[in-house]
Amino acid sequence: MIEAYKLVAAQCDYPLHLGVTESGTVRMGIIKSAVGIGALLTQGIGDTIRVSLTADPVKEVDAGFDILASIGLLPDRPTLVSCPTCGRTKIDLIGLANAVEERLRHVHKPITVAVMGCVVNGPGEAKEADIGIAGGAGCGLLFQKGEILRKVDEADLLDALMEEIERL
Ligand code: SF4
Repeated sequence: MIEAYKLVAAQCDYPLHLGVTESGTVRMGIIKSAVGIGALLTQGIGDTIRVSLTADPVKEVDAGFDILASIGLLPDRPTLVSCPTCGRTKIDLIGLANAVEERLRHVHKPITVAVMGCVVNGPGEAKEADIGIAGGAGCGLLFQKGEILRKVDEADLLDALMEEIERL
């Protein structure tokens, strides 16, 4: 697919509609589409895209937006960064990161949001983030550009983060 589009792009200046045909089910289909479409868009090839999955079409649209956002083509979409968790993680970081990602789908701001597993390294590792949380034991810290704002109970972390994001 990549080679075919490169050949066409070299021979004409028609607008090109990118997509990986019959890419498969959700997991592998999104990976293949991201690799194929992303490789071309980052080389300046392609004008419109489609994602083809053996799945609910809503997932195809979501995946398309996510591919565009991940290569910086949707500047008003927030970027989520989150750590991989390790022995220092004392909260349900995976659940928290997924919940934050879901809530961010309704936010249209060019911001970076960090969800980090510990207060030891979290604020420092994510100091470029506009806003973030770092987990502790039953609580977490809210931080902004690496500076700690306040401590929040684990149960209130998600809502506290979203309130801060609304103020940005
Ligand atoms: S931020 Fe903390 S919990 Fe997350 S990977 Fe780094 S050290 Fe581990």
